Amino acid sequence: MINLLNFTHSDLVDFFKQWGEKPFRASQILKWVHQMGVVDFDQMTNLSKVLRQRLQTETTLTLPEVVTVQISQDGTRKWLLQLSCGNRVEMVFIPEDDRGTLCVSSQVGCPLNCSFCSTGKQGFNRNLEVSEIIGQLWLAEHTLRQQGVRAEEHGRVISNVVFMGMGEPLTNFNNVVKAIELMRDDFCYGLSWRRITVSTAGIVPAMARLKATSPVCLAISLHASNDELRNQLVPLNKKYPLDSLLAACREYVKDDERLKLTFEYVMLAGVNDSVADAKALVKLLRHLPAKVNLIPFNPFPNSGYTRSSQETIDNFRNILLTADIMTITRKTRGDDIDAACGQLAGKVADKTRRVVPIVTV
Ligand code: SAH
Repeated sequence: MINLLNFTHSDLVDFFKQWGEKPFRASQILKWVHQMGVVDFDQMTNLSKVLRQRLQTETTLTLPEVVTVQISQDGTRKWLLQLSCGNRVEMVFIPEDDRGTLCVSSQVGCPLNCSFCSTGKQGFNRNLEVSEIIGQLWLAEHTLRQQGVRAEEHGRVISNVVFMGMGEPLTNFNNVVKAIELMRDDFCYGLSWRRITVSTAGIVPAMARLKATSPVCLAISLHASNDELRNQLVPLNKKYPLDSLLAACREYVKDDERLKLTFEYVMLAGVNDSVADAKALVKLLRHLPAKVNLIPFNPFPNSGYTRSSQETIDNFRNILLTADIMTITRKTRGDDIDAACGQLAGKVADKTRRVVPIVTV
């Protein structure tokens, strides 16, 4: 059976052509599925009965299955999702006054093994399909809409998507780009590229490809301002050291002043948070149109790291601000349900940790 959720608009047009159907069938299906939240062909009343029947027998619209939903005291929600073959991933919804951000996963586990990230500790299992990525947005948008959760200023619940869940999106390039295409499609979610952020540890060649095929906001997980330390924290640095990473960053924003970069920097006590580290970071970023997000380290069992003190984080931030580098400290959201950056594990009821289903859908 063909899962139509894996298809972009143009894939669907081609697909219907092969069936001898008109191209506009593609936009009809996309509207039903992504705008109205309908995944039952029988309810798609502007399609002929014969077509509905054929879709029913030869295709599916299969979404990830929701295992648990946890709701944090601050309103953040984390879903544990079941994929085919028993794989599980997590996604997180972060409501704010003026926006609703969905943090999606792009892989089961992660191949990069950053030393301070709990996802990395699990190793890598597989890439997510397009349907499993866009399915996360579908599930969040339509289940929250049904529950009457609405962002204030616009009709939709999810106004922003960040690829900051499990996985390294740029090592699942084709599926991530196709999912972004669906997110941006006016017959689906109509999200502007400015509201979609891909976060990468720095897969240098893929950054140029992203700009060429699907320019969106780019966040770089920097975390260190010299190669020696970054090799330890982000082992990918051995393959793509800082020089090459920063050159790729400069290329990403070259000739298009609308494109901006965000550098993520996890604050690890006594590791990368000294005054000298801050000054080295200033030197590194001085000539880039960049802002910096300082992320207080989110702990997990046996990580071996602790979070920098608030005073250290404030001092670090002030050094960057004084050098005219726009810097914010990311608010920790959802840490009471292990939904904060780097805490997504995607495991349930295993021997070491039990996730208690607070709401089961
Ligand atoms: N693979 C992508 C997406 C990772 S998650 C990337 O590396 O960018 C998004 C951010 O959370 C990254 O900057 C990541 O380095 C950071 N992160 C990972 N573990 C963390 C932790 N325990 N505490 C705080 N931030 C963490």
